[in-house]
Amino acid sequence: GVDSQGYYRRLYLSADIRRVVAKEHTSLLERPVREEVERRFKANHHPVRPGDVNVLSATPTLEMGIDIGDLSAVLQCSVPPRQASYIQRAGRAGRSTGNALVMTMANAIPHDLYFWHEPRTMIAGAVDAPGVFLNASAVLERQLTAYTLDCWVQDALRAGARAKGASIPKTLGEVLKYVGKADETAFPYTWLKYVEANQEALLAGFLELFRSEESSGSFRNRLDAELTPESTQWLRSFIQGGEDREGVAPSLAFRILNRLNEVDKDRAELKKRQERIGKETAKRQSEVQSDSVKEDLARLRQERRAIGALLARIDSKQTLNFMTDEGLLPNYAFPEEGVVLRSVITRADRSASHSSQSSGASSSESSGHEVAPQTFEYERAASVAIRELAPNNTFYAEGRRVVVNQVDISQAKPEPWRFCRQCGHAEQGGTTAGLKQCPRCGDGMWADSGRVRRMARLTTVYARTPDSESRIGDDSDERKRAFYVDKMLVDVAPEDVSDAYMVKSPGFPFGFEFLRKVTLRQVNFGESGDATQDAMMTIAGEERPRPGFQLCETCGTLQKTRNVEIAYLNHAPWCSARHQAPSGLFGSPGSPEEGIFLYREFASEGIRFFLPEVAFSEVPKAMHSFMSALELGLMRRFHGAVGHLRIAADVRMASNTQSAQTYLVIYDTVPGGTGYLKELMRDRTPVLEVLEEALQVLRNCACKDDENEDGCYRCVYRYNNNHDRGLISRRLAVQLLEEVLGHKDQLVKVHSLAARQQDNPLLESSLEKRFLEALRRPWPGGQFQLKDAMFNGKHGYWVHAGKRRWRLELQVMLDNSQGVAIPCKPDFVFWPDDGVDDLPIAVFTDGWQYHKDRVLDDLAKRQAIAHSGKFSVWTLTWSDVSAAVQYDQVNPISGSGANVAVAGNSAPRGHSPWQSLLSGNAVAAFEKLLQSNRIQALNAFHQQPAFLQLHARLAGHTHRQM
Ligand SMILES: [Zn+2]
Ligand SMILES: [Zn+2]
Ligand SMILES: [Zn+2]
Repeated sequence: GVDSQGYYRRLYLSADIRRVVAKEHTSLLERPVREEVERRFKANHHPVRPGDVNVLSATPTLEMGIDIGDLSAVLQCSVPPRQASYIQRAGRAGRSTGNALVMTMANAIPHDLYFWHEPRTMIAGAVDAPGVFLNASAVLERQLTAYTLDCWVQDALRAGARAKGASIPKTLGEVLKYVGKADETAFPYTWLKYVEANQEALLAGFLELFRSEESSGSFRNRLDAELTPESTQWLRSFIQGGEDREGVAPSLAFRILNRLNEVDKDRAELKKRQERIGKETAKRQSEVQSDSVKEDLARLRQERRAIGALLARIDSKQTLNFMTDEGLLPNYAFPEEGVVLRSVITRADRSASHSSQSSGASSSESSGHEVAPQTFEYERAASVAIRELAPNNTFYAEGRRVVVNQVDISQAKPEPWRFCRQCGHAEQGGTTAGLKQCPRCGDGMWADSGRVRRMARLTTVYARTPDSESRIGDDSDERKRAFYVDKMLVDVAPEDVSDAYMVKSPGFPFGFEFLRKVTLRQVNFGESGDATQDAMMTIAGEERPRPGFQLCETCGTLQKTRNVEIAYLNHAPWCSARHQAPSGLFGSPGSPEEGIFLYREFASEGIRFFLPEVAFSEVPKAMHSFMSALELGLMRRFHGAVGHLRIAADVRMASNTQSAQTYLVIYDTVPGGTGYLKELMRDRTPVLEVLEEALQVLRNCACKDDENEDGCYRCVYRYNNNHDRGLISRRLAVQLLEEVLGHKDQLVKVHSLAARQQDNPLLESSLEKRFLEALRRPWPGGQFQLKDAMFNGKHGYWVHAGKRRWRLELQVMLDNSQGVAIPCKPDFVFWPDDGVDDLPIAVFTDGWQYHKDRVLDDLAKRQAIAHSGKFSVWTLTWSDVSAAVQYDQVNPISGSGANVAVAGNSAPRGHSPWQSLLSGNAVAAFEKLLQSNRIQALNAFHQQPAFLQLHARLAGHTHRQM
């Protein structure tokens, strides 16, 4: 416009310009800090006062429960995970006027891009109702604890008690004073004694709360389940306590005292450190006051003040807040083990660092000039902390960027652990294990010394950062992140397995079982960037680099290669190893000790699925599609409220073979379990219903009509499978579920999946198993029927191949009596059993370990069989057979030299996906060619993948026709 030059000038002069005062608002902030931010944001002064916060940069904490008044704009920096979150967040704005700006940024990740194309499905999509976990033992325990505390306070008030132990001390410091001395006349002992004296009445009163709700109908109806007798029994043992044994929850009193004792120990440890600092300070002061000694002294002073601040922080915590945050009393989140980051921001001591320049300046105590270090404490759930708070990771909060550089190993000491090579089993005290084999899977390498590594539970970490380095500048938009090798190890003792169901068909060994107790151990094996060849180690069947973390054995600081001048950073200022050569480390170079692993652990309940190896474990796409379908079924079953149920793949080697067995374990992330999975396993039907319900949704989902779509957010896609999006296919999930459910009538109750009979003891090699699997598949030439049979005292099969019938024997010894000059043993022999004048077919499968040493030898033998004229001889390689059993609709396999048509998504419903490997037309053409022109037919025939040539041979072409 005409006045464009003066636009900003006029704007700034006339308009109501407000400075942007932004603050962070996250669950990481301590309560008083967070509440102050909220207060300043809500203040809404007229006129505006400088410093009033008008922009909150928030994590999902703002989504629920917190009142921050009305907003005029909500800017979302990513697409929310679910419709419910979107509505919660967007709904924060425009409450008073009905007008608001709501903007959402889509990042370049599959989840966000999906909704970039389909914004309506987020803005107007269906919202899942939140669920109630009534019988979750962990939830009930906290409610009961709160109830007894209420009753105790009320009784004390009624009695007008003013005695020392008759009320809850305000701060944790006061509580710990008595806990340390085990003074039974003070809180919490007085409360716990009250609970002990009134167990029955308290329990009855608590249970009555549930009963009375029954009368007030509508609320009652929203609860999915009533208190089960098991839950009541659980609560009884929780309040009564009793012997400390496996499978019995720690009692209420134990939980409270144990947690307080842990905090007390933590405090004692910090005090011990202060003493060390005192000693170290005295020692340094007695030395010649060189610059480096002065610097050391300054660092020691900073550290002493930092530790003093940490102690004060613990002592000043509000008692009730502490109990809520620790999950001893109810809070919004499920109780989960937490990891604490203690961040110390040190300030440069100007007088000390400049003393070298200012010659002749006073070298006396300069603490008066020093700025006290700042301390911050953040707690993260162990499930995320195992990576986010691992050594060398960068952590961002409150405008600062700090690097985790020390692990508290004073309480959670590194212990030797023995790790199984083949399965997820690990045992503490690895050096004394007397067993020769893994107690879970029987692996013979169990006793090997190389199976032992040191490991520490991650509980508290430190970051020590100079003030200037901690400030987040504009230098980078990207957050720094370290990458780790980590894995959830799933461990189940055989006695904790119950209610197993299994399809006993050798071709489809599907089954599932209930795990009363499954131990989930998530281990961080070190930074993936640190990978060196000698750090390779196989655990749970996976060979990965596992460098561990190189920590100082005294102070737990991460060791890094540094210049001499800053080598002190490798230790805490109080560490006695500070001035030693780098030895005494967990995993220092040149020492036999390797870096230590860090872990978190919890026990819960689970359901383990055993999946047919060929269809699932070999094909990541099948695995992920099935997992996604399973999750969908669970969401339908429990009306969306399954955030606490997770699925982990548990792939392991069967003992003494090279073939992997694939299990999926659905586990409950709430320690002890919520009872959901137990309910699913009350008999065989609920699990099948879950799968059936998933199948219904998948079959009928609106996205099925779009040729370009193979899934959507109404069916297989979810926020949490964003990373695996390329591996998730609705069509494949439908086919897999149909296959599983097609066998449901064959499901029988068994003792456990592990005890299932090997389908065929002769099938030593995985390749042979795969070959049989491939034979069973429907191919364009027709589907063969395999029936179990006994031939010559050994397990074999009747094979109905179209019009032909064969007797299939495994590992048959052929010698002179069959006219073979050099005795040999093909993997399979098909004997004609339909009177057709045809030769038997000897099949060798190659390329697997059992064969590799004898290939040359075999070649001679095969020649001998072929020359005998009594057999057709076929050789199938590893890739021939794998190609036949692995399918992938997006990237169809290509047989060697074969023209495999891409059938893509046109596979008819109800048919196996394997059919899509070849188009039907190719086969019809092949048949025609065969009739009209022998030579061309042979060419067409030989263009087929090797396995399909054999298939066609079995289905209808005699030796002479070939
Ligand atoms: Zn094992
Ligand atoms: Zn050290
Ligand atoms: Zn869909």
